[in-house]
Amino acid sequence: MTHDNKNIMVILSSPSGVGKTTLTKKIQEKYHSFKVSVSHTTRSPRSNEIDGVDYYFISTKEFNNLIKKDSFYEYAKIFENYYGTSKKEVDKLKISNDLIFDIDWQGTKQIIKFKNLKFIKIFLIIDKEELHKRLIKRNQNTKTDIDKRFNSFDEDSKHWKDYDYVLINKNLEICFKQIENIIKSQKNFIFDFHKS
Ligand code: 5GP
Repeated sequence: MTHDNKNIMVILSSPSGVGKTTLTKKIQEKYHSFKVSVSHTTRSPRSNEIDGVDYYFISTKEFNNLIKKDSFYEYAKIFENYYGTSKKEVDKLKISNDLIFDIDWQGTKQIIKFKNLKFIKIFLIIDKEELHKRLIKRNQNTKTDIDKRFNSFDEDSKHWKDYDYVLINKNLEICFKQIENIIKSQKNFIFDFHKS
């Protein structure tokens, strides 16, 4: 959250495949005040992804140039690709929107150091066997990719302690409701804060 206005910033992190992207889209569809911080990545687009909507897909050279220019609030190497949150994009959006960040634990550790930004940090988790099923069903990654994502589950899961809330995404609708409750209580808190 930011106390200089009434907008809030939500970080959603999880091991890959737990459902962050679906939940992020659901929040945005229901609450039009929310915008997603679109990250830059060196990963290739999946067949259903659109440049500028899902990610800004850029080359490693372009990514390195952005690092040199200090253009990112945070960036991380995940599964051999780079992902980063652009300062320009966030600074523009945060003026008049609530923001959601779909970033990993490495990025969360970096971005929370910026004292001009204040966040509600939510970590999503599911059962490991369920994750394996979902990664296969999602059918968006190669077998090697699925194995890499599955194998990083244990390491990624360790970082739940860095977050304000840990939710189990066993049932999408229940998990969504829980996120809504967190958002609403935070919005009310900020409203009260400004009234007092
Ligand atoms: P995917 O390749 O499945 O779209 O994303 C892989 C991982 O990268 C996900 O855990 C996602 O949250 C994370 N990610 C996406 N954008 C960013 C970003 O800008 N920074 C960081 N640190 N992680 C990101």
